[in-house]
Amino acid sequence: PVPAGGVDGARLPLRPELADEAPYGAPQLDVPVALNVNENPYAPSEEVVTTISRYVAEATRGLNRYPDRDFADLRSDLADYLALESGVRVAPEQVWAANGSNEVMLHLLQAFGGPGRTALSFAPTYSMYPEYARDTHTRWVTGRRATDFTLDVDHAVATIEEVRPSVILLASPNNPTGTALPLATVEAVLDAAARVEVPDAPEHDGRRAGAVVVVDEAYAEFRRPGTPSALELLAAHPHLAVSRTMSKAFGAAGLRLGYLAASSALVDALRVVRLPYHLSAVTQAAARGALAHHAELRAQVRDLRDDRDALVAWLRAQTVDGRPLQVADSDANFVLFGTFGDRHAVWQQLLDRGVLIRETGPDGWLRVSVGTPAENAAFRDALTEVVAAAP
Ligand code: PMP
Repeated sequence: PVPAGGVDGARLPLRPELADEAPYGAPQLDVPVALNVNENPYAPSEEVVTTISRYVAEATRGLNRYPDRDFADLRSDLADYLALESGVRVAPEQVWAANGSNEVMLHLLQAFGGPGRTALSFAPTYSMYPEYARDTHTRWVTGRRATDFTLDVDHAVATIEEVRPSVILLASPNNPTGTALPLATVEAVLDAAARVEVPDAPEHDGRRAGAVVVVDEAYAEFRRPGTPSALELLAAHPHLAVSRTMSKAFGAAGLRLGYLAASSALVDALRVVRLPYHLSAVTQAAARGALAHHAELRAQVRDLRDDRDALVAWLRAQTVDGRPLQVADSDANFVLFGTFGDRHAVWQQLLDRGVLIRETGPDGWLRVSVGTPAENAAFRDALTEVVAAAP
């Protein structure tokens, strides 16, 4: 809704499609147990704090100058990290970064969306995608995921052929469901995307270009063993971008650093739309400091994965109204569970007990992030009470 005394009162020429829009964001409440935005519950260790401080202090000495516009050192560190994490080696020119993967995604829509073009995704999925589309005047279309939140290949391919999007967004693991896509599904989408012709795309050899496919791997580090990353498909698919973030597994949501890997041609297109010097020298330095500690991060991610699996198992053993709870398989650091006749009441009663989770996803479902063992226990205790107290 328009802020009171704001847009209308000031008689501003707001774009009509923004008139009823509220700023995006989950409630930022001061609660004992915050399990609502899929953060890493562990603050940086003292060693990490010391390294980041050292890198930032060094950057501070040059703050009278603009930062490296192309952040060469950071791109090279990110490429090294991706090689260690996934076994896929990309060149620094194939890496792009911005202030959170939100901004990376906006760059993608700025370069490949736009008036007269369509972005396609499959719901339920990340609720920010339609906002990137709106803000870049791109038409927004969603197909659907199956009832178990996987993606049916025939439906995906048929929708791509019908809609002829210029950008396809696939979150894997998906938010809010936690579902990872098999590589065969991503490949089928990549093939369909290459086959369609985007109506106003440039022609090469008598054919117009197809769609760009973005696999949003914000939660990739939490995937279960045996689940591969779409990074493995990069070499054969110049129209693929795989985005990642330091906000989740890396425990640096406050840093605002998201990035992607793609062909260098795709990355070059993003360089055209970015603001000059969009990544501050402080951000670049802090990110490099955090990346230097990737090894200890990996141990922490292993613990979070185990705690996630334990939370899934516990939730599956609960009954509500005589029925076992439904719990989506999760390759992420959160779990979607339900269904509740009145999910808002459950959410509120958990909050009354100091536990903040997220009211999101299809009707009746709730999402909880994996916290520390003590936070997970507080959630389990609170949910047990709430369910027992239900009429
Ligand atoms: N993609 C997905 C699927 C997400 O859930 C989020 C954060 N909730 C993001 C991207 C954006 O994260 P950030 O901008 O912090 O990198």
